[in-house]
Amino acid sequence: MKIKRHAKSTLTAVEMVHGDTLEFFLRNGRCLSVELLDTKAEIIHTTLKEPGKEEPGATTVYRFWAEFRIDGVNVRLEREVGTQASFYQPWEFGGVHIWLDAVDAIFEFMQETHAPCRLQENCGHDAPSRRHARLALQEASLRICPELVHPWCPLPLGGLNIEDCYRGEDCWLGAYDGASAHGGLDINHPKGTPLYAPIHLDDQFLYNSTEMGNNNNRWRGIRQWDDHTTWILTTCHMTHLTVPEHSPLQAGMHYAEGAGVWVGDAEHTHFGFAVLDHGELIRLDPWILFWQMYQDFA
Ligand SMILES: [Zn+2]
Repeated sequence: MKIKRHAKSTLTAVEMVHGDTLEFFLRNGRCLSVELLDTKAEIIHTTLKEPGKEEPGATTVYRFWAEFRIDGVNVRLEREVGTQASFYQPWEFGGVHIWLDAVDAIFEFMQETHAPCRLQENCGHDAPSRRHARLALQEASLRICPELVHPWCPLPLGGLNIEDCYRGEDCWLGAYDGASAHGGLDINHPKGTPLYAPIHLDDQFLYNSTEMGNNNNRWRGIRQWDDHTTWILTTCHMTHLTVPEHSPLQAGMHYAEGAGVWVGDAEHTHFGFAVLDHGELIRLDPWILFWQMYQDFA
């Protein structure tokens, strides 16, 4: 299938099956052609007795890759998850940044029991049940959005540290209990750590709360961009909000105290990021937001 996308002021999220070609048009009219050829994933190291079966505290590190033909040249993009390399730089081809967010092959040895993060069902006829690869793209001369991205929390000096992702594993798609892809990014920091709106938010509210009888406080902030993309930002484990719900927030506004409710083994905040684009909700690595925060504010 041919997928056409035009660079816009916010990044583009897309999922592909093998054989799809993405035509990504830059603002100057040039087109980058990205054909997905193949995807694979494999475990590098695990302490599990049985791969794919959760064991409390177990660790698994894995890699995944995708083979592409980009403007006629075969390239393999490879990622590692569960190590410091989880915080990666985007690739750049023909003036386009590409983040290889996920491949569905990781779910051959991972489960999706720790928040949704899997690729979408494929609606095509003879096609496999899930799409194969998830990407985010942006024209390299553009930021991931037209505003500066304010630190969501006090940024750890020098970058994010995998050891500070809950028990050292809960980066995006990291192996919770060795076998469940973590549907978010955890950052350890003390109870009461301030959380700030990273961008202007049109609306924000708790969709779960201890007051409503849930085990956790879970918050969502929503931004509708002028380019018709909607971003949904999530944080969990806040002690309380410091602003009234359903009020718009300016970027940088202190909206909550984090890391204090149902935090398990380490006080932390769980961050989530999803993009609603072309009618599809595509969940992405919150690291992409933090990557931009480090560019903008570190
Ligand atoms: Zn988490």
